[in-house]
Amino acid sequence: MSMLARARAELVALKPYASARRSGFDARIRLDANESPWDGDGAQAQAINRYPEPQPDLLRERLASLYATTPQRVWIGRGSDEAIDLLLRAFCVAGRDNVVALAPTFGMYRIGATVQGAQFRAFPLDAQNDFALDTDALLALVDDDTKLVFACSPNNPTGTLYHAQLDALATALAGRALLAVDEAYIEFADAPSATALIDHHANLAVLRTLSKAHGLAGARVGALIAREDVVDLVARIAPPYPLPVPSTRAALAALDDDALARTRERIATLVRERERLRESLIALDCVDRVLPSSGNFLLVRFDDARAAFSRLLDSGILVRDFSAQPGLAHCLRISIGLPEQNDAVIAALTGSTR
Ligand SMILES: *Cc1c(COP(=O)(O)O)cnc(C)c1O
Repeated sequence: MSMLARARAELVALKPYASARRSGFDARIRLDANESPWDGDGAQAQAINRYPEPQPDLLRERLASLYATTPQRVWIGRGSDEAIDLLLRAFCVAGRDNVVALAPTFGMYRIGATVQGAQFRAFPLDAQNDFALDTDALLALVDDDTKLVFACSPNNPTGTLYHAQLDALATALAGRALLAVDEAYIEFADAPSATALIDHHANLAVLRTLSKAHGLAGARVGALIAREDVVDLVARIAPPYPLPVPSTRAALAALDDDALARTRERIATLVRERERLRESLIALDCVDRVLPSSGNFLLVRFDDARAAFSRLLDSGILVRDFSAQPGLAHCLRISIGLPEQNDAVIAALTGSTR
């Protein structure tokens, strides 16, 4: 069954904005889009006087091959944040529908749902048991008006991987809700991407990003990978030119063979550093628990998170304080940095001077 049966009917029926770049014509003199006729002759570093392709073919092909899928199943946007927003817009009828997400998790699902007027249902992970997910209990939160279930895996900020449970979850939600798997950190995990499951599940979508492992947070490039019908619907409701030309160039440069080899090395370094930092933190008196992590960060429960936060800040190190969130009392999230930056974290917390 196509998931479009669960999408907003007025959007499925919407005739898309006919942008100049979508017309399919090719011509020597282009006077169809009210652009400036001067390209970047000195005043600008790059020729960016023309509107970009709505979905650049080459980037779509490169991302499809990186994510082991087909170009038709890829929609590229301004970070996965934009894909999250568009999925919520595409599926949720304001004032009626709801979405379910894990708690604690990435904050944008709640923001996006609220902006769209959808009810946000937070399913509490088992904080006593390293944030384990009880899928049956989660499914009890799903009803006829649930359109999306967000599963962030590895989960931000806990670092927990839920990939072993995704196949069963997608099966249980079939024909009812789209399971959106946010894989922002999958490069740091020891698990294959859920994109392989899309062949078996029409209701599974995967969110990927170049912001974390690929080092392009400033370029804002992310992707939705889903069945063609869902990808086409998102493309139809998206603004006509989501990808700035400089961002596409930066993304293509990050995806050439040399850059990908460097990225793989950096991922290996960060994973090694994560485990090294984890061991060092566990040994500290002020640390109560360091969650196992499949991401490029560690969630650390301190005896006194406030004191630890201040101590780090006094050493010029900023981490993220989650201690006010349910289930995260005394927890700080520490991103994995360069080896010497990670050393600085340990030094600050042991009180030794550098
Ligand atoms: C960082 C992050 C994102 C945002 O990705 P962008 O592609 O930069 O928008 C999405 N999901 C999670 C869980 C994140 O931590």
